[in-house]
Amino acid sequence: MSTEKGPNFIEELIAADVASGKHNGRVLTRFPPEPNGYLHIGHAKSICLNFGVAKKFNGKTNLRFDDTNPETEETEYVESIKADIKWLGFDWANEFYTSDYFDTLFEFAIKLIKNGWAYVDDSTSEQIAEMKGTPTEPGNESPFRNRTIEENISLFEKMKNGEFKEGEKVLRAKIDMASPNMHMRDPVIYRIKHAAHHRTGNKWLIYPMYDFAHGQSDSIENITHSICTLEFEVHRPLYEWLIEKLDIFPSRQYEFARLNLSYTVMSKRKLLQLVKEKHVDGWDDPRMPTLSGLRRRGYTPASIRNFCDIIGVAKRENVIDAGLLEFCVREDLNKHALRRMVVLNPVKLIITDYPDGKTETFHAENNPEAEDKGGYRQITFSKEIWIEREDFMENPPKKFFRLAPGQMVRLKNAYIIKCHSFKKDDNGNITEIYCSHIPESRSGKDSSGINVKGTLHWVDAGNCTSVEVRLYDRLFRSENPGGANDFTNDLNPDSCRIIHHAMAEYALTEAQPVEHYQFLRLGYFFADKNSTAEKQIFNRTVTLKDTWAKELKKKE
Ligand code: ATP
Ligand code: MG
Repeated sequence: MSTEKGPNFIEELIAADVASGKHNGRVLTRFPPEPNGYLHIGHAKSICLNFGVAKKFNGKTNLRFDDTNPETEETEYVESIKADIKWLGFDWANEFYTSDYFDTLFEFAIKLIKNGWAYVDDSTSEQIAEMKGTPTEPGNESPFRNRTIEENISLFEKMKNGEFKEGEKVLRAKIDMASPNMHMRDPVIYRIKHAAHHRTGNKWLIYPMYDFAHGQSDSIENITHSICTLEFEVHRPLYEWLIEKLDIFPSRQYEFARLNLSYTVMSKRKLLQLVKEKHVDGWDDPRMPTLSGLRRRGYTPASIRNFCDIIGVAKRENVIDAGLLEFCVREDLNKHALRRMVVLNPVKLIITDYPDGKTETFHAENNPEAEDKGGYRQITFSKEIWIEREDFMENPPKKFFRLAPGQMVRLKNAYIIKCHSFKKDDNGNITEIYCSHIPESRSGKDSSGINVKGTLHWVDAGNCTSVEVRLYDRLFRSENPGGANDFTNDLNPDSCRIIHHAMAEYALTEAQPVEHYQFLRLGYFFADKNSTAEKQIFNRTVTLKDTWAKELKKKE
């Protein structure tokens, strides 16, 4: 898949601004997360876009924590957001907090009131909603709309000083109750909240609403291009109205389609629910679409950046196939992952004509895709080895090119072997498989002239280590989890399968936590954060092939 692309439509708009000399060609964007959860793959899209376009035009990007909701925000989230952005490979010019602007925003509100563009309303939130009208009918003006400027200033000061209870009063912009745009029908811009804030503590008892914080913060920072998702398109007239009335820096808002992924939920509210109800093992559970989950699973920053690049920047909502993200990580890991052999479901295989006590050491490529083969590791071979139970069949169907009585296969990096017998227990389970080997068939020096169709991975039973392997599948079994119903009904009950005792080749005992591995024929793996020298745990990042595509074909 080619990743060569022309400029996206946002880049075209910015290029035109730069060419026309707007803001003297200066470009300053911002990434404005609300610190009420961990970043997810959708945020990665916004990060790549904001930081990417700024870089393209020699500009900069601010990180701004949009922390205007005291109840839902926490410092833990701030720290995780910073770590995730850095991990993705981006660096911000400034770290700002909307809460740093609370004084300025308060002054802005006073300025609106003084010019007759804002008023204190005593109506309840239900009454305000009722007076709002509908998209086809105009709303009604509040009985408090025509208070005097002096009264409004005095009431707003009292709101600030905690003289009213929550919900008793709000500050509204005075715009147009008949506007076809519902957001222009006297939107609430400040509300009373007697809650402690993660940064300003108990200093504030009133907090600005999103619409009265976001655009103003952009102006305070002299942001030239404020890029947000499509649902804010209808807020743009208000964004522009406030900038005009306050006569502040003319930041401009641009909208693009948010990223939606099949088989995935992305709203932070839903992700928080998954964590709280313990459907997953925390925000960084390897099945979560969070950046910390993807990282723990073994996704690389490059694969995520490439994914964001491939999907491009759209003007219309669409749903991206989750398989594309998997494709991107597979493609990246194929180039970098070290090859190792691990047997998940072991059965003993004995090479009867191989001398007792003999051990041979082979050199095996770490990565055949790398120019220098990624260097070599040593693997040992002796009389007893482990192979996958599924790689042997007593009565194989026609095209079974693996092991069966009388059939030959190659053991990767070692010899061609031929099965002559096997042993079963009382329950009919195969317990041991007996083979002979072709001494002239040793890999690299094969003079046997024998061609076999199957190559199996294996592990020397006398020189291996037991590891835990976690096989993940999609967290949801439906493309659009929940639809109109409860999304937790669509959780995939088989999204995590734990193999407690997989047999791994000895080289894996030296596994590094930062290293990505390909376990031959099984997929790409990454050490879990809870892995220790005594108990190594590997998460499967992705299978080698797209197994879901096969499932879909079967259904067709
Ligand atoms: P959520 O709905 O998941 O809670 P949000 O929009 O409330 O997300 P914010 O923290 O406010 O989350 O988002 C920070 C930035 O990331 C915003 O500019 C927002 O538009 C962008 N963003 C959030 N989700 C997506 C997405 N799925 N695709 C693209 N951009 C996104
Ligand atoms: Mg938001």
